[in-house]
Amino acid sequence: MTQGRTWAEIDLGAVRSNVRSILRRLRSGAELMAVVKADAYGHGAVRVAREALAAGASRLAVATPEEGVELRRAGISEPVLVFTDTPPEKFPLAAEYRLEVTAHSLPAARRIAGRPGLRAHLKVNTGMNRWGVSPEEAGEARKLLGERLAGVYTHVASADTDPETTRKQIERFESVLRAHPFSGALVHAANSAGTLWYPEAHYDCVRPGIALYGLHPLGDSGDPAGEGLRPALRLVSYVAQVRRLRPGDGVSYGLTFRAGEEMFAATVPVGYAEGYLRALSGRSRALIGGVRRPILGRVTMDAAVFAADESVSVGDEVVLLGEQGDERIPAEELAIWAGTINYEVTTRINPVRVERRYL
Ligand code: PLP
Repeated sequence: MTQGRTWAEIDLGAVRSNVRSILRRLRSGAELMAVVKADAYGHGAVRVAREALAAGASRLAVATPEEGVELRRAGISEPVLVFTDTPPEKFPLAAEYRLEVTAHSLPAARRIAGRPGLRAHLKVNTGMNRWGVSPEEAGEARKLLGERLAGVYTHVASADTDPETTRKQIERFESVLRAHPFSGALVHAANSAGTLWYPEAHYDCVRPGIALYGLHPLGDSGDPAGEGLRPALRLVSYVAQVRRLRPGDGVSYGLTFRAGEEMFAATVPVGYAEGYLRALSGRSRALIGGVRRPILGRVTMDAAVFAADESVSVGDEVVLLGEQGDERIPAEELAIWAGTINYEVTTRINPVRVERRYL
């Protein structure tokens, strides 16, 4: 049960609109695999998956078999690919729930081939050096998997920033595709950045994650609207207490903020246990009454304090991420303040503390 002090509002209409906007970029017949791992980057895997499928996605991807099982238990029947390593003890679970696993190495391909009922996508390492067989091993892995082969894929390391490296990875992948008959296997390579900026890497299917949520693949810059995307998540709380500070009064642990003059301070029940990152201390802003209000001092586990004025009252809505009136705090800006990327900003919103409310 969540505790309802701070909530995440998720606009499923924005998810639908983002899926359709991505589909419009694809050649006809190309599929969209909606990446809903990590609870759909904090947006709620089952709700997002249903919405993405209704809007035209035909497949889903998760990171772990357990994430796939959650989708199946919710009644979702479309193909689900598990990206990371599925250890052999999880093969029965993957087979029972019809999850497609990834073969990352020759030993993994051999183990998968030995387990009846399991289907796999072969992952080829074309330069990211995280997961996958080498291009030289791809032919043998394909033979080992035989009838079990459902797809073949790679992952690009820098489609957001480095066209030269990305093109090299695409070329390496294509040389593997030319060297071996992968007929009947679904060919895919593009994450969001690849989908938006490398149409030559769309192949049979694209695998966008961050773009589904209306966030920019650059992580800490870029305007999603410029890519036809609408952010889906607002992080909302309320003013729980207002106090008057005198000159010299300090705020929060370590008293790192000191009032220079008489002012008001609003206490908001959102802290790093909610996923409002401690790195935002002394750097972030929140919206109260449609106005940007600087944070005063450190984010604590359960609360943060923001500058206020006479117009701010207990109970006022506080927007930590997203729009309020004409103002907006994009996830990309929060990411800059926290020294991270938008992916982490939404993924870290703690579902135990923060209820998801769907619009
Ligand atoms: N494909 C793979 C293999 C991934 O690991 C990820 C996410 O990390 C994605 C696609 C989606 O990436 P993005 O969220 O950048 O679109």
